[in-house]
Amino acid sequence: MLRIPRKLADTIIDLAYAALPVKVCGILGGSNGIVSAIFPVRNISGASEHFILDPAQQFSTMKEMQDQGLEMIGVYHSHLENPAYPTSDDIRMAHSPDLSLVIVSLKKLDNPILKSFRIREGHVEQEQVEYR
Ligand SMILES: [Zn+2]
Repeated sequence: MLRIPRKLADTIIDLAYAALPVKVCGILGGSNGIVSAIFPVRNISGASEHFILDPAQQFSTMKEMQDQGLEMIGVYHSHLENPAYPTSDDIRMAHSPDLSLVIVSLKKLDNPILKSFRIREGHVEQEQVEYR
């Protein structure tokens, strides 16, 4: 289950809109399994509907989170053409089954969809999002 304040979920959606036509990605930081901060990271994957966090920025973000006493709870990225479901590249490149993979789809521009998944050995499991 992903536990996230509604305001932060809305922030991810706002960031995705603001970046159009570029896809966004970033890291969800928090503690005790609850997201408390969002750290946008440059997406260096280019055109396809998956994401690669800029390694240098990922490193500095991890450091920043550590300084704030936060853990990495998950990662988020936006889809522009695809629904809010992991693409084959997302599945192949999944970081860890312990991380939530949040996808915001702007396929229907007036109806953004945010969903969260876990990827375990190539298997996609949608997880519940609890807004707090
Ligand atoms: Zn994707």
